Amino acid sequence: MELYSGSVNKLIDELAALPGIGEKSAGRLAFYLIGMPKGKVERLANTMIEAREKVRYCSRCFTLTDKELCPVCGSDKRDHSTIMVVENSRDLAAYEKTGKYSGVYHVLHGAISPMLGIGPGDIKLKELMERLQTEEVGEVIIATNSSLEGETTAMYISKLIKPTGIRVTRIASGVPVGGDLECIDEVTLLRALEGRTEL
Ligand code: ZN
Repeated sequence: MELYSGSVNKLIDELAALPGIGEKSAGRLAFYLIGMPKGKVERLANTMIEAREKVRYCSRCFTLTDKELCPVCGSDKRDHSTIMVVENSRDLAAYEKTGKYSGVYHVLHGAISPMLGIGPGDIKLKELMERLQTEEVGEVIIATNSSLEGETTAMYISKLIKPTGIRVTRIASGVPVGGDLECIDEVTLLRALEGRTEL
């Protein structure tokens, strides 16, 4: 038996498919949306479509941006010889929020995970190596998560970079195991950065 109309069910299904939203929250959101003025719903829907259409990868660091180069890569106030490697744009945002990191980034968009079948070719690793060949880089700080995948990725990257002679460091593991970088407070992030060690 269908509890609601087909359209409501469809909306609940779509919302429930989003990460972190269970069946209950999806139902609550669906009814909230249906109760909203039509104009507001249209604005929300259009904002989502626009974001999806406009957003692309920065041509240098591969973070999500609206332009060819993201604000960090486009800034002459940043130290372009220090590259921090992060798993995703949210991790980049977490470090940016501290306001204390002056280098640039490289976003991998994932981590190596043999269990999930994600290999080195599935993340933006080749792109990182290309940057190291074309840019003047003095240090690569590996700031992948302290999960198994994050550590595997860090080891893999350091092995690739070592022969180039470029300094490779890893952020301190004060970061809780398996903890997403974005969930960690700024003090912990800065401590992890300052306590980084040579690989
Ligand atoms: Zn960039």
